[in-house]
Amino acid sequence: MNDCIFCKIANKEIPSEIVYEDDLVIAFKDLSPTAPHHILVIPKQHISSANDLTEDNAEVVSHIFLTVAKLAKKFGFAQNGYRVVNNCGKDGGQTVQHLHFHLLGGREFGWPAG
Ligand code: 5GP
Ligand code: ZN
Repeated sequence: MNDCIFCKIANKEIPSEIVYEDDLVIAFKDLSPTAPHHILVIPKQHISSANDLTEDNAEVVSHIFLTVAKLAKKFGFAQNGYRVVNNCGKDGGQTVQHLHFHLLGGREFGWPAG
């Protein structure tokens, strides 16, 4: 999508701190981190939100979770634990309309979500 900031990051049209990339996904550091480790993992293909997952494109989500687990190990917080968040739509607090999963680690997180 032309005006999508995460598509631009995936296409290297705007810079980001990329920590992992393969054919299907890219992971980069969040611009405004809310934890010592705050990484965004996104499909390279534009999918606007979890509401737009279908039988044809949903396989990437399992790949994203495998990537999440790899990154948690790579950055050394897999053992202590971490939080994976997908915000969907207005009530979910989604601000960028390209499916993304927040990988948060390096501190304890409260529950229930605010
Ligand atoms: P959301 O609120 O949609 O779940 O999360 C969007 C996230 O994207 C926010 O945590 C925000 O800090 C991050 N973000 C927004 N624009 C950029 C950007 O240009 N670069 C990076 N690295 N992160 C961004
Ligand atoms: Zn996009």
